[in-house]
Amino acid sequence: MRTRTIVSLAAAALLLTGQASAAPAGGAGSPGIGDPYYPTYGNGGYDVTHYDIRLKYQPATDRLEGTATLLATATQDLTRFDLDFALDVTGVLVDGRPAAFAATGEQELEVTPAAPIPQGRRTTVVVRYAGTPSAVARYGFTAWLRTPDGGVAAGEPEAAWWWFPSNDHPADKATFDVSVLVPDGTQAISNGDLVSQSSRAGWTRWNWRQDKPQATYLATLAVGRFDITRSTSPGGIPVLNAYSRDLGADDGAARASVERTGELADWLTGRLGPYPFGSVGGYVPNVRTTGYALETQTRVFYSPRMFSRGSNTSVVVHELAHQWFGDAVSVGRWSDIWLNEGFATYLQWLWSEHEDEGTVRELADWVYASHPADDPFWTVLPGDPGAQHQFDAAVYDRGALALHALRTEVGDDAFFRILRGWPAEHRYGNATVADFRRYAELVSGRPLGDLLRTWLFTPSKPALGAVAADPAVRPAAPREPRSWAAILGARQH
Ligand SMILES: [Zn+2]
Repeated sequence: MRTRTIVSLAAAALLLTGQASAAPAGGAGSPGIGDPYYPTYGNGGYDVTHYDIRLKYQPATDRLEGTATLLATATQDLTRFDLDFALDVTGVLVDGRPAAFAATGEQELEVTPAAPIPQGRRTTVVVRYAGTPSAVARYGFTAWLRTPDGGVAAGEPEAAWWWFPSNDHPADKATFDVSVLVPDGTQAISNGDLVSQSSRAGWTRWNWRQDKPQATYLATLAVGRFDITRSTSPGGIPVLNAYSRDLGADDGAARASVERTGELADWLTGRLGPYPFGSVGGYVPNVRTTGYALETQTRVFYSPRMFSRGSNTSVVVHELAHQWFGDAVSVGRWSDIWLNEGFATYLQWLWSEHEDEGTVRELADWVYASHPADDPFWTVLPGDPGAQHQFDAAVYDRGALALHALRTEVGDDAFFRILRGWPAEHRYGNATVADFRRYAELVSGRPLGDLLRTWLFTPSKPALGAVAADPAVRPAAPREPRSWAAILGARQH
């Protein structure tokens, strides 16, 4: 998403890298976690284990105020450390004592505790803050989505800065408690389980809990007038969905798609192994300025525009597949994005075949034939696309082709053992493309370096042989599979 934004981000990040190297060494945590795509994202020197976010939000004015309590462990001696945040901070406590703080750069909150924190110490950081998220721009954009009835935080890779201070990089996952006070008649939606809700003096508090590790970009908040539905999938997964009461003409198609979440999560469980979280669902807020969906953990964000041409179960399959690929197992660095998008797209192909809307083979043929050798599509490396191309079509479509090439190479039995075993192998953690290669080689017993280099790291159209077990039966000019438009609809994200 936001390709133009990412171009400017990459440029700004380069400038900031120069500044970062000038920061005092020894004792100060670095202002970036060390991701080459986004050098200022995340921070060094500590690891967050839990976020407790307690907010009050007024939909009429978009005023958000609150307190975030972070439990963190210092990974080095720290005289100072950064958080990533964009709203106005009014106070910071570190282990109960007031700390000095300063907003620097685009989204850095520099915190200097009263006393240095020794390596290994478990530390509690309390940040008090307030602001109008929709009025705050960083790197020229605002990730907070204002709606007529409230606001929404759902964006990749940035969203957290507009509603809670964090170590904003998927490499630092943590559990979350999110408690939001909103006027009676308004709902607050977040990740995980709805633990409780209570009303007093005209305000309702909504308490949500995500008890499995979650990347910061997968944390979501939506406040608005929602209709909440609850059920349990036939396989036993608790389902909670939410729909804006103002979806208008998109209401029916949105519900006809997202109400199938339980059924589709069960179908995915059959292919990928146990669903990794305690509940599942999606929400469709009344946002009109964006057209994407995002795999926010356990509670997928869908723009209503996803359903403006009718129901789309393919996008639901894509976002739910991310619960295994992206959410349970998160990228180690943003360059590992193929581990998210290539896999979620391949599950859409499998769903298409299951629904008799085009076989995996037909989809692979279609993608391969749709891009002639001189198409710039083939110059983007799914295995390391660069920040500017992180969400290019090639990451999704060539990424899925790469998986089909792997399947052709190792056979169905080993391939589906890999697909199922990978999320279990790294559940609730992080992994890289190199980790995947090692795992796939272990399970299949075959060297896969050449194959993965060809499909993920070579800037040209690979030879046909790697996708086709029998090129002789390949149609000369593949026809567009019936599912193709729906699959394209999930291109972001
Ligand atoms: Zn995706």
